[in-house]
Amino acid sequence: MDLPERAAIIDASAIAHNVRTIANYVRPSKVLVAVKADGYGHGLVTAAHAALAGGADWLGAAHIAEALELRAAGIDAPLLAWLHTRTSDFAAALEAHIDLGASGWELEHIAEAANTLHEPARVHLKVDTGLGRNGATMSHWPEVVHRAAELQNQGLISVEGVFTHMAVADEPDRRETDEQLAAFREALAVAEEHGVVPDLRHMANTPAALSRPDAHFDMVRVGVGVYGQSPFADRTAAELGLKPAMELRTTVANVKHVPAGQGVSYGLTHRVETPTHLGLIPLGYADGIPRIAVGAPVLIGGRRYYSAGRVAMDQFVVDLGEHTEVQVGDEVTVFGGDSGIEAADWGAAAGTINYEIITRIGTRVPRVVINAASDRPDSAETPAGAVTSDPMRKVSRRLADATVQEPNR
Ligand SMILES: *Cc1c(COP(=O)(O)O)cnc(C)c1O
Repeated sequence: MDLPERAAIIDASAIAHNVRTIANYVRPSKVLVAVKADGYGHGLVTAAHAALAGGADWLGAAHIAEALELRAAGIDAPLLAWLHTRTSDFAAALEAHIDLGASGWELEHIAEAANTLHEPARVHLKVDTGLGRNGATMSHWPEVVHRAAELQNQGLISVEGVFTHMAVADEPDRRETDEQLAAFREALAVAEEHGVVPDLRHMANTPAALSRPDAHFDMVRVGVGVYGQSPFADRTAAELGLKPAMELRTTVANVKHVPAGQGVSYGLTHRVETPTHLGLIPLGYADGIPRIAVGAPVLIGGRRYYSAGRVAMDQFVVDLGEHTEVQVGDEVTVFGGDSGIEAADWGAAAGTINYEIITRIGTRVPRVVINAASDRPDSAETPAGAVTSDPMRKVSRRLADATVQEPNR
């Protein structure tokens, strides 16, 4: 099949591989895969199926609405949703057997829904051990646990989990992680004093899953690593044994020769110093390419080129040099695949992180789902340093089995 003009190629087999890799790090702890935000931009249902194929025990979403979408797609795995508002549909969540995170106020609403449905709600109590976001403060925690125990005794809720979220696990040397661990242990002890002893204590995100075995507890909640992105500034995905699951591709829309002094894009913030060729890449900030990115890499014909001038709504420009063989129609990889360019490189060029780059790829970019591993050996079985064949041809071959997803955002 032919690629759409712009495509985010989603390698479902890479997601499964990454889940297996992380599960190996954390065994015997369970693995919850975060599929919030449209599966970090990879497609909610695509990511969910791939994660389960890789052995995920649980799926996690921020919003109840995201979890309901998974149920509507026929996914019956355990689900947890943890970010609610006063208008969240707790009853729908209970009917769909979705576990709910609760930091305090939600308990009454969840209990009310459970009372109406005559079915106990499965709750994971959240404590704030330092992130300062959601979760009960340590001083409020005893009260929350006390109330949860009451509701549990009334048969309205069942406390399945106690959890917290980490603030600086991506910087493994910071002492705040130790402080969060100590606070979490204290919170678990307080819960136990109130007779609340959950099966699932969970705290670790991807960076902690990969660097802090003492934070694994009964389950880890991992997102970015599952999508083949490194959570650490100083380590690549490949060094962690993770495969990027999204490759952003298009083709060159124009090539032209320009004289020295030519300004490039809005604001003329960049002028070429010598005569050169400019290549036009038909992806812009409406597609999720950060407007602020400067000097960001792309791969064309096996060579790296760098963006010049401001990214516009629909397009950006790369400097191809005075002598170039790049032509209109040549394939471009912005990041991912075999390009050696990581979403993190775009993050660095735009003052942000890989998480933001992948989750913001827009709905105008169709997701094309492939299973590369069924077409080529798993890289774990490929000898280190093996030279891969021409990446363009390999992708076209892989695309034989691809399916194009309708954007679901
Ligand atoms: C998004 C999220 C995760 C996953 O974090 P990663 O850094 O992507 O692994 C885990 N827990 C909670 C509460 C989250 O919101």
